[in-house]
Amino acid sequence: MKKHNFSAGPCILPNEVMLKASEAVLDFNGMGLSLIEISHRSKEFVAVMEQAQSLVLELLGLENKGYKALFLQGGASTEFLMVAYNLMEKKSGYLNTGTWSDKAIKEAKLFGDVSEIASSKDRNFSYIPKGYAVPSDLDYFHLTSNNTIFGTQVKDFPKVDVPLICDMSSDIFSRQLDFSQFDLIYAGAQKNMGPAGTTLVVIKEDILGKVSRKIPSMLDYKVHIAKDSMFNTPPVFAVYVSMLTLQWLKDLGGIAAIEEINEKKARLIYSEIDLNPIFKGYAAKGDRSSMNATFTLTDESLKDTFDTLWKEAGISGLNGHRSVGGYRASMYNALSLESVGVLVDVMSELERKG
Ligand SMILES: *Cc1c(COP(=O)(O)O)cnc(C)c1O
Repeated sequence: MKKHNFSAGPCILPNEVMLKASEAVLDFNGMGLSLIEISHRSKEFVAVMEQAQSLVLELLGLENKGYKALFLQGGASTEFLMVAYNLMEKKSGYLNTGTWSDKAIKEAKLFGDVSEIASSKDRNFSYIPKGYAVPSDLDYFHLTSNNTIFGTQVKDFPKVDVPLICDMSSDIFSRQLDFSQFDLIYAGAQKNMGPAGTTLVVIKEDILGKVSRKIPSMLDYKVHIAKDSMFNTPPVFAVYVSMLTLQWLKDLGGIAAIEEINEKKARLIYSEIDLNPIFKGYAAKGDRSSMNATFTLTDESLKDTFDTLWKEAGISGLNGHRSVGGYRASMYNALSLESVGVLVDVMSELERKG
C-alpha cells in the first residue's frame, strides 16, 4: 500500500504523474522508444521542454512580462553561486532565515560584498525578521520564501528598489503571490515540482548583462536563455516529470485551487499542534509554513510510542531535521488532505493514551 509520504524532499508526486512517467520510460508517446533514450533535440523532447517552460510562466502569471523559464542542473545550491556570479558587481544584501540562506550567503561572498540585512539566528531561525530596510545601492536583495528545515515562511515580501531574488525551492506553485515582484526565482524541482535533477529558474531578462566579470558558459544565464535550456543535454526525465506535474496542477485549477487545499492541510495540522498539550510548534505562529510544519513533543518519554503509532498508520518521512529535532510534516502540493487527517488522528490518539 502507498504510504502517507511527509518527506521534506525529494517529495511526494501525484500518482497519475508517476503512472504516466513510468509508461514513458518504457514507451514514450507510442514512439517505440523510451523517453530516456531519445535525443533531447528530437521534436518530441523539444515539445516537452517548450510545454514545461510555458506552463511555468502561465501558472505563475508571468507570460509576456519579459520573463524566461529555464530548466537547469546543479540544484538550488548551484543557483546560490550563479545568482551572485551573474548579478553582483559590488554589493548584495541577504535576509538570513536559516540553513539555506546561510549557504546562499556563503557562496555570494566569493563574488563581492555581502551584507546580511536581517537575521533570525538569535532564536535558531524560528521566525521571519520584519521591519528591516533594504538599501537602494545594492545590486540585488535575496531571500528564501520558505525555510524547509525550520518551518517558517515569508508572508509579506519587502518592497525594494533593487532586483528581488527569491529561493522558492520548497513553496513554489503552492500559494498565490504577485510573482512579478521578483526579478529572479529559483527552485530545485524535488520539493514541489518533480524529481531531483533539474532546477527551475525564472528570470526577468533585463536584469542581466550588468556585471563586468567574465562568466563561464555553463554558469551564464544569458547562454542558457539563448539556447532555450538546451546549451548542453538537459535532464530529460526530470524535465518531463516536472512538465507532467505542472500539467496536473493546471488541470486541477492552478495555484489558486492548490492554495485552498494547502491552507486546509495547514489549518488541520496546526490546530492539532496548538490544541494537543503533548505537542509544541517550533515556528512563531505568524510565520508558520504551510509546506513544512515543525513540532516537538512536550514529553520526550512519549517518543517511542508516537514513533510506533505513526509508522503503524502508514506514515513515512516525519522525522525533523537534525538542527531542529522533533518532527517535520512536509505537506507539498501532492500530499492529500486525507494524509494529514491520518497524522492528526495519530496525534490525538497519543493524547488519549498518554
Ligand atoms: C532543498 C533546498 C535547497 C537545496 O536544493 P538542492 O537542489 O539540493 O541544491 C535550497 N533551498 C531551499 C529552500 C531548499 O529547501
